[in-house]
Amino acid sequence: MDAAPPPGSLEEEHEALLGFLYMCPAGLLQLDASGAVQMLNPPAAQMLLPLLATPVLENLFTCLEGYAPELRNLVADFHEPRGTICENHRIHVSQVADRPAVLSCTLLRIRPDCIMAVLSDVSAQVAQERRLQQAESWFGTLLAGVHDFALFSLDRDGRIDSWNASAQRHTGFTEAEVLGRTLHQFYAAEDVIRNKAQEQIERARREGWAVEEGRRINRDGRGSWMQSLVAALREQDGEIHGFSVVMRDTAERKVSTDELRRLLTTDHLTGAANRARLFDVGEIEIARWKRHGSPLSAIMFDADHFKRINDSCGHAAGDAVLRELARRCRDGLRAVDTLARYGGEEFVVLLPGMGEAEAAEVAEHLRCTVAERPVEHAGTAVPVTLSLGCASMGPGIAGMDDLLNAADAAMYRAKQDGRNRVVLHRLQPEPVRT
Ligand code: GH3
Ligand code: MG
Ligand code: MG
Repeated sequence: MDAAPPPGSLEEEHEALLGFLYMCPAGLLQLDASGAVQMLNPPAAQMLLPLLATPVLENLFTCLEGYAPELRNLVADFHEPRGTICENHRIHVSQVADRPAVLSCTLLRIRPDCIMAVLSDVSAQVAQERRLQQAESWFGTLLAGVHDFALFSLDRDGRIDSWNASAQRHTGFTEAEVLGRTLHQFYAAEDVIRNKAQEQIERARREGWAVEEGRRINRDGRGSWMQSLVAALREQDGEIHGFSVVMRDTAERKVSTDELRRLLTTDHLTGAANRARLFDVGEIEIARWKRHGSPLSAIMFDADHFKRINDSCGHAAGDAVLRELARRCRDGLRAVDTLARYGGEEFVVLLPGMGEAEAAEVAEHLRCTVAERPVEHAGTAVPVTLSLGCASMGPGIAGMDDLLNAADAAMYRAKQDGRNRVVLHRLQPEPVRT
């Protein structure tokens, strides 16, 4: 058995150094000037062996030739007897872009013919850096690209400390004009006096976030209705170190709500009101009739022999006829009247303030405007006529269902009597439907 070297001896120091070499988590190699490996520790072997064609590591530069041919040149160009040849030189040893395998290499010349190489695997660090860069560039693109809101940040005192293209587009102010300013920069004078912005910041500080809606002024003095959300940004220690602000134009949102309402209440083919809208308006008008006794009438009409139009001219022609019917009828009505598509080729007109006789006149007018001239579609003249029934609120007709049933019954009679005509419910005995 070897005896332990005497304490403090050169031998003991040498052994300690060897121990360090083997336990060190970094890869360490001792090379000669040509890169020939004289000694390496286990981590170095672990990092380099997967890169080798054969399991023998003879020369570091040859081993890394395919990934870092420059190592040989770095050494050849280094003329000092000792010193750092390169430091944390990154060597990409994998071509897979989203899973980087990267070694960091430091080469130290400790004697003219002796080089120490220090290798460490920085793959995880590089992957992390890449993710950060990607997130930053996505975030940058997002900030520059958003059109419907502005996003920026405030420092802990509520002063603007970051700005971007979308915020500039929204407010007109450049970065130089707003950095260091408070949100009052965008507020109307009356709100500045009421210290609205500061109040909002204080609320966000207490409650985490705060929303304010009001008139905001952009750079050229134009006012617009905006909503701003201020949210506190907390550090890990729970301290608030700033705020993020989202500002958006609520006028635009209102437009889209109106658009939504239009979509929900309109028949998409003809642009007439849909059934839901007809019943909404009907209930309002019937309430008015009940309160004030103001007359209310309805016309129900249906295109005659519409199936034939579809059969002989095609469904597209049928659609075009329906659109044109709706257009001609709307032209003959007042703004207070509602033209609704009740079913396939069946429509209802609600006429507030009109009794049955006046409604019959309107119906006759509609009948004529449709019958007098065929609908043109793709070079073909498509003749079309309507059968119409009229009814009014009065004895025995007390609600929307009654009114529509009465108009429907009259229309049914118009069909029975030969089509292309107007029939008044009041003047007709109830037909028996088969
Ligand atoms: P009548 O004079 O008795 O009303 O005869 P009609 O052929 O019009 O009778 P019916 O009500 O049975 O047929 C209506 C046809 O309308 C059937 C259906 O295919 C067609 N139709 C319903 N909705 C649409 C639509 O949106 N577009 C087209 N092109 N046709 C439709
Ligand atoms: Mg029909
Ligand atoms: Mg029908």
